[in-house]
Amino acid sequence: MLLTFDNKTALVTGAGRGIGRAIALSLAAEGVCVICVSRSEGSCGAVAEEIRNAGGKAEHLAIDVADGKAVAAAGAALLEKHGHIDILVNNAGITRDGLLLRMSDEAWDEVLRTNLYGAFNWVKALAYGMARKRWGRIVNISSVVGLMGNAGQANYAASKAGLIGFSKSVAREFASRNITSNVVAPGFISTDMTSVLNEEQTKAVIDKVPLKRLGTPGEISSMVTYLCSGEASYITGQVFTVDGGMVM
Ligand code: NDP
Repeated sequence: MLLTFDNKTALVTGAGRGIGRAIALSLAAEGVCVICVSRSEGSCGAVAEEIRNAGGKAEHLAIDVADGKAVAAAGAALLEKHGHIDILVNNAGITRDGLLLRMSDEAWDEVLRTNLYGAFNWVKALAYGMARKRWGRIVNISSVVGLMGNAGQANYAASKAGLIGFSKSVAREFASRNITSNVVAPGFISTDMTSVLNEEQTKAVIDKVPLKRLGTPGEISSMVTYLCSGEASYITGQVFTVDGGMVM
C-alpha cells in the first residue's frame, strides 16, 4: 500500500536510538521532514545525519522532554521556522525499575516526568499549530506493561497507562480539528532498553510471547508510520499492541 504524506513535518522524541530511530528513518523514507529529538546531541544528531545522507530531510534537537519550559520554547521556535509540525510521535522513555517498597521518590518522579509529562509537554507545545492547520497526527508510545502491569515497574507501568488515558482525552478534545491521537503499545523489542535483560530473563520473556521471539524496532515503526499517514484518517483514540501476541 502506498502511504500519503504530502509535504509533512514530524517531530519524533527519543529518536536517537532503538524504536525512535526506526520511526524517524521510516517517516523520512516516506518523504517526511523529521525533527529528531533526544537527550544527547550525539544520538539525535547522528540519526538526522543518517537520514540526510540517505537523501531525506532531517534536523535534530537535543532537549530533555521532561523540561516543560524548554519544550514550550523549542516548540514555538520550531513552528516559527517550519510553519507547521504536522506529526508528533512521543516515544522518549526510560525505566528505573525496583520493587515498590524500595522505590525511591526520585525513581518514581523521573520516570513519570520523562514518559508522561514529556508527552504532555510536546502535545501542549505543538497541538495549537496542528489545530490551526486542521490536520495533525499524534502517536504516543506506551507499552504492554501499561496494560498488564509488571512487578518491579510500578513507575513505568503507571506512566505508560497514563499515556493511554492522556491520548484518548487528546483524541476527544482535538477530533473537531482533524487531529488524531493514538497509542502504540509495544511488547518486548530488541533495543538498548531490553539489552539489560540477562539470558534467563530474555528466555522468560520469550516464553510468554506466542510468536516466540522479541520484536524489532522496524515492526513498531511500520505501525506508527501507518498511523501518521493520510490513510489513517479515520482512526483515533485507539491502542494498538504490537507484541507478538502477548496481550490478546
Ligand atoms: P532506548 O533506551 O533504546 O532509547 C530511548 C531514547 O529516548 C533515546 O534516544 C534517549 O535519548 C531518549 N530519551 C530518554 N529520556 C529522554 C528525555 N528525558 N528527553 C529526551 N529524550 C530522551 O529505548 P527504546 O527504543 O527501547 O524505547 C522507546 C520507547 O518505547 C520508550 O518509550 C519505551 O518505554 C517504549 N517501549 C520499549 C519497549 C522495548 O522492549 N524496548 C517495550 C515497550 C515500550 P539519548 O539517545 O540521548 O539517550
